[in-house]
Amino acid sequence: MSYSVDSSRYDTMTYNRCGKSGLLLPAISLGLWHNFGGIDVKENSRLMIRRAFDLGITHFDLANNYGPPPGSAEETFGQILKEDLASHRDELIISTKAGYRMWSGPYGEWGSKKNLIASLDQSLKRLKLDYVDIFYHHRPDPNTPLEETMSALDLIVRQGKALYVGISNYDAEQTREAARILRKLGTPCLIHQPSYSMLNRWTENGLQEALSEEGIGMIAFAPLAGGVLTDRYLDGVPTDSRAAGPSPFLNANAISDNVMVKIKRLNELAKKRGQKLSQMSLAWVLREKTVTSALIGASKVSQIEDACGTLSNLDFSSEELLEIEHILK
Ligand code: NDP
Repeated sequence: MSYSVDSSRYDTMTYNRCGKSGLLLPAISLGLWHNFGGIDVKENSRLMIRRAFDLGITHFDLANNYGPPPGSAEETFGQILKEDLASHRDELIISTKAGYRMWSGPYGEWGSKKNLIASLDQSLKRLKLDYVDIFYHHRPDPNTPLEETMSALDLIVRQGKALYVGISNYDAEQTREAARILRKLGTPCLIHQPSYSMLNRWTENGLQEALSEEGIGMIAFAPLAGGVLTDRYLDGVPTDSRAAGPSPFLNANAISDNVMVKIKRLNELAKKRGQKLSQMSLAWVLREKTVTSALIGASKVSQIEDACGTLSNLDFSSEELLEIEHILK
């Protein structure tokens, strides 16, 4: 299937400044945690990457362990990049991460310099790239001095293996400390990647304030709560949905009656706004000034189109915001 990129790809996407940096990120970014692994249909992965790029999504998010099997999402993306988008590398922001278990033994996870340097070298090989745009420490490590982890991130930038660095899943206090160390080293912390959605609001307890004060951008992962905050489960659990599959992070038990009462009410409100529920959920995440980008996942092209459609209606009235609070209570 030959492919030529859409010349109107920058016409409708919004690009937001990431914290106080020079980098602009698309309001919608695509994550490759699910549906891009070695077990998935490669042609579907390819169609999603092409469509995303054609809609102005310049940012693709990976991690060493995305698959399954671990590493295979980077391999898939590396191949598709080479085959379809090689001449567009300078239009892309590609991120990867290390910190979760990737290989056996004491160096295959957490936050040592040994783990981060080795893992990024492996990722670059799988991605067939000389550098990534953003490299993250994926989760805080309670047993490694933060100075060691942050100086590994600084070294990676100085070696030219990443342009920017970020952290993921750090709490407010850990974030302030990481930012302080990185600033001292001369490599600012660009971005933080926490989970954030209408059903998961832990970042409102100090983290968003810390990011704003430190001038760090926030990219919100799982803004659709894995698909729960969409119309996917309104009439039960479809056989092709994430909740019906083997993911340990979302199973049919999560689609409880209690949650579905809220989802149905949110869906009615979204309809009144002339949006799909998935679009209202993304608009709600993007209403926060600290949020640079909403990092979605997708199993089909139409879901990426839905996400980009959000941008034509991002505004909420104060009555709508109050109603959402009331429903979520
Ligand atoms: P989402 O909350 O966006 O969930 C995505 C899922 O929602 C899709 O796979 C699809 O599920 C469903 N969906 C999406 N759009 C629609 C739509 N329009 N209508 C109906 N259903 C829809 O995010 P993810 O949980 O996938 O996470 C996104 C990314 O965040 C990951 O790929 C990864 O890059 C990052 N991430 C980072 C983590 C970290 O620790 N830093 C942890 C987890 C994720 P279905 O398959 O059922 O169609």
